[in-house]
Amino acid sequence: MSTTLASCNAKGAIGYDTTLVPLADGGIVREASSDELIPAPPGTLEYVLPGRHPLTTIGPIAGRNVLAVALPAGYTRLLLPAYATDRAAPALPLFGYTFACAIDDRLHVAAARTDECEDWEPRGFAAGELEALIVRRRSAQPHNRVLRQVALCSLEYACFTAQNVFLERGEAALPVSPKCNARCIGCISEQEGDGPPSPQTRIADEATARELADVAIYHLHRAFDGIVSFGQGCEGEPLLRSISIARAIEMVRAQCSNGTVNLNTNGSLPSALARCIDAGLDAVRISLNSFRAHVYDAYYRPAGYELADVLESVRLAAARGIRVSLNLLTHPGVTDDEQELLAMEAFLRESPVSMVQTRSLNIDPAVYFEAVGRPRRPIGMRRAIERIRALSPVGNFTHTH
Ligand code: SF4
Repeated sequence: MSTTLASCNAKGAIGYDTTLVPLADGGIVREASSDELIPAPPGTLEYVLPGRHPLTTIGPIAGRNVLAVALPAGYTRLLLPAYATDRAAPALPLFGYTFACAIDDRLHVAAARTDECEDWEPRGFAAGELEALIVRRRSAQPHNRVLRQVALCSLEYACFTAQNVFLERGEAALPVSPKCNARCIGCISEQEGDGPPSPQTRIADEATARELADVAIYHLHRAFDGIVSFGQGCEGEPLLRSISIARAIEMVRAQCSNGTVNLNTNGSLPSALARCIDAGLDAVRISLNSFRAHVYDAYYRPAGYELADVLESVRLAAARGIRVSLNLLTHPGVTDDEQELLAMEAFLRESPVSMVQTRSLNIDPAVYFEAVGRPRRPIGMRRAIERIRALSPVGNFTHTH
């Protein structure tokens, strides 16, 4: 199998050059191996990276721009594109840039399929179809601010969990908190300074427990095995509103015993999480980028908590018997660093979880490496996923069992 360069001209048109062998970035720059490459799956998005020139085995190709891709849900990125950057190159927006090349005249990407779920397959709507569903649903509770927010998220951000509120199936979004106690470099709802804009706008309202419960009850009455999830991309940290979440959960469970009440969180406040579990929380997904405090702090920039609190939340939730998933924000060169894997394995042996979701972190790789440092001994994401799998089920979505 011989890989050939796939790149873009100044206008962004993609071209393959069979005389050039591309290099990829796994924390160290190298050729991709055959077991790291798959044909580009449906739903793959192609990006030209301005002011960035692909690295090949004969050096950077100045006259070409890098072609990178973003993977559809259900896939984990294994390698980054490798490139030389012009001094005046603009910062890159928050996407999961993945290495791509051509094999036998077909686009291939450095990815592994880590989960399958019909509800997360790429979706499309007929003209006006989604809008009509939104109008019909909102007419049932016209003043509900949660519905107003997820309507915006459905149309503006094509958020699947927001759309599910109107499709009345699967996992439905319950955004709850405008504030956060972290300042993640790659926060998708709020960006500081002159960096790239956040892909979503942080919510402004604090919906009441009643508003949240009404949306959840309506959903679970129609999606028997449905999931309702506090903690979405458009908000801050939900545990900062644990009292309202606990009240909402009690209201939900007073009216329906089916489905799953889930919380997506940064896990910063174990006692607030305990309050939600006391109220009837069924599942929690705790996000982190690393099991090493210095790497965690460099990305999350936590205010008033630390990684030890996050890990304590994992232990607490597991000990309370609810379903615990980790939302591991993966990045080649960091997640597969030998020191990172040793720290992760030590924790997972001591505190097994129901699933590790290996999501690709959406960030400019140069910004991330500058913050957390380049690795010394990356072993490759494929092997890293295998080492995780030896200690925990691996996936990409929140499952109910
Ligand atoms: S924890 Fe979430 S909301 Fe808070 S800064 Fe990080 S990504 Fe943003």
